[in-house]
Order: sequence, then C-alpha cells, then structure tokens
Amino acid sequence: MRLRGELISLSDRLFYAQRMVSSLGLRVKALAALLVLAFFGGFPCRASDLALVDAKIYPSPTDPPIEHGSILIHEGRILAVGPRADVKVPRDAKIIDCTGLVVTAGFWNSHVHILTPGLIHADKLSPDETTAQLQAMLTQWGFTTVFDIASVLNNTNLIRHRIATGETKGPRILTVGEPFWIKTPIYVKSFLETNHVNIPEIQSTLEAEERVKQQVHDGADGIKIFANSIEPNVILTMPADMARGIVAEAHALGKPVFAHVSNNKGIEIALESGVDILAHTTPIDEPWSAAFAQRLVGAHMALTPTLTLWEYESRKGSISAADLEQVMNRAAEQLNAFLRAGGDVLFGTDVGYTDVFDTSEEFKWMSRGGMSYQQILASLTTNPARRFGLSARSGRIANGFDADLVVLRADPSRDVTAFSQLRYTIRNGIVIYNSGSRLEP
Ligand SMILES: [Zn+2]
Repeated sequence: MRLRGELISLSDRLFYAQRMVSSLGLRVKALAALLVLAFFGGFPCRASDLALVDAKIYPSPTDPPIEHGSILIHEGRILAVGPRADVKVPRDAKIIDCTGLVVTAGFWNSHVHILTPGLIHADKLSPDETTAQLQAMLTQWGFTTVFDIASVLNNTNLIRHRIATGETKGPRILTVGEPFWIKTPIYVKSFLETNHVNIPEIQSTLEAEERVKQQVHDGADGIKIFANSIEPNVILTMPADMARGIVAEAHALGKPVFAHVSNNKGIEIALESGVDILAHTTPIDEPWSAAFAQRLVGAHMALTPTLTLWEYESRKGSISAADLEQVMNRAAEQLNAFLRAGGDVLFGTDVGYTDVFDTSEEFKWMSRGGMSYQQILASLTTNPARRFGLSARSGRIANGFDADLVVLRADPSRDVTAFSQLRYTIRNGIVIYNSGSRLEP
C-alpha cells in the first residue's frame, strides 16, 4: 500500500509540475525528468527504514568481513550494505548502534520440532504466549528460519498463520507435518499419548503415497521418514519399497525428504530410496569410512549433525554415562568424515524433541568435528538456503535479500560459541528478539 501511495504522490507531483511548467513555457519532459531525479536522488525517508550502524559485518561465509560497516533496511529487505561511510542513512531511519557488535545473516536450524508441551496445542495459547515459547526455543538463539521435521501439521499451520499476520513474533517455519513411520518410536510414544496426539503408523506403501499428497496439499514443505524406528529391544527398518514410494511421491511434488536414522542399515534405506537429508549421524553404529561418506555425498545427501542430542539421551539414561564419551567422539568423527568428503552440513539440533535450547555446546562439538567458523556459518546460512531453494533471497547479507539478520555480542572467528551470544534477532527488518531490557528500536 505504501508503494502505491508513493506512486500516486509521484504522479501527482508530475501532474502539477507539468501544469506549472506549461505555464512557464518550458519543455515539460525535461523538467519532469529532473523532478524524477530529485525524487529518487534525494533519499526519501520512510518510517520502516532501519539502519544497523558501525558493526563488524560478515556478509557471507566466504566474503571478507566489513569492519565498521552499516546495513540499511527498507520494507523488510536489505537496501544497502557496506563500509559506514558508503551507506547513506536517511534522517528518519531508526538506528541500532552496533559498535563492538557483529552481524551475520539470520540463522537456519534445519532440524527442529514444533512439538514441545508449550507449542503442541497452540489454539489454547494467546499469540503472546506463542511468541514467548518460540523465543525461548528459537528466536533468542538467532533462528530466523527453521525446518520443523515432525509435528502436527494443523497446529504448526496455525502458528505459521499467527506469525504471518504479525500477532506472534517468530521465525519463518518450514514444516514436514506428521512424520512417516511403520511403528511409533518408543521414545515419543508416551509424549504423544499424554498430549493426545495421534500420528498414524503406515500400513501400506499405497496409503503412504496418498498421505504424502495430502500433507503437501495441506501445506507441508517436505516429508520425513523414519528409516529406523527404535522399539523395545529392536531397531526396526522401513521396507525399501515403501521408502522408495514415499520419496518418489515427495520428489514428484518438488519436496525434499528427510530421514531419521538410528543405524547404518537405516542409512542404506535412505541411500536406496533417494532421501535428501540425513537427520542424524549414527554414533551407536560403526564409524563412517571415507568410502561410506563419499557414497552419502555422491547421493547429494545433506546432514544435520545433532551432536548434542546424544548428551541429552545420555541424561535420560538410554545411553550410559560411561559410553557417552565414545558416542560423542564417534558422532564428531562421522561428521568429520562427511566434511572431508565435501558434504553439505546443515546446522540442526533436534530442539523441540530435546530441551537443549542453548546452542553453544552444539557449536563446540561441530568445531571438534573439524568445522571452521566459516563452515559453521555456512551450515547456519548459505547451505540451507541453497538446499531449500531460497538462496536468491536468504543466507547472505546483500542488496535485495530478506532483512533476516543476527547481531552477536562477540566475534565467532575468535570463538565459535559467539554464534550463541545474541544481542538481536531481526526478521524481515523487524526486531523479533532483543536481549536488552529496553524495547528498541
Ligand atoms: Zn528430530
């Protein structure tokens, strides 16, 4: 509407200019052109303009940082980025002084669940309560986009609707809705029962293919299969023809497929069926050899490492404390083998299943797995944006890109846990998390 208003006001100005010019007997076209130049050349001030001033800016994982840089945001998009002296800030813009702070593109978490007790029945929550839940789990850790890979689609759609209308402050949520499993995994069974959530077990390939169509029709952005389901005393594996049918149907509809795996047999099913993203490493199984990692990368598979998940499981008692160190080291080694094979790592923590909202341990473990801060930044930004088809507008700080940004208190090039020290999270040019006591801007 604002743009239309501006165009109307521009045409009004030209109309009156023309009348005035005619009366003066000058050439109308030439003066109209001058007026247009004056209009666009002098910077128009708009209420929604926001400027981040004097930050250390990492425009992308590969570009060199800009010291003392500024970013100008207009109507949810980045209008300019560069050294402070080169970015002209309109007089009426709201300014966030970023002296001593560090700015990167907004983070993606490509393995979350909108399935916490606090989010599962959003119809019983006020929009502000939803904002608080999303802040605790996601926005206060810098996530401006998340891929929810198992929840209740109707409930997640309601939350997405509230975010889209501005009632609730939250990240962009992509979702798979209900996951596809042949048997409900033992570790979620009681949670689902307690919360009166029913996620059906697949009876046949045909039925599963129909459900893929239905969920995509209802708004799912991807599909999640449980290539393995952990049951008492046994790890089940989804039949290969069923996995193939589900993946083929999802791909025909242009949607990516995630696979939960618990062991390397599950990974074989994922490979055989053409799955796009492995949701975990498999530290309770054999190490990943270079050749094995090469097969994953050759199949264009991405990986969400979810390294801190194993610590969480250990606390629940399903992995003994004595085995934990070995499990953690193996998970980090598997990540390292995948990296050395040139694999595409997407930051992902399984938060919403785990209650480990704080991301700092995950960053430490990714670093122990051999990832540089640039590689970690890529896993948080450019890798997922490219993988999920949004690289023309998300993942970097560049003109025309979504104004999804994080403002950090410290520099991740010195210590990767700086990625978890948030000052602000900004989505579409709006501050959706502010760690300070004052509400600004
Ligand atoms: Zn998960």
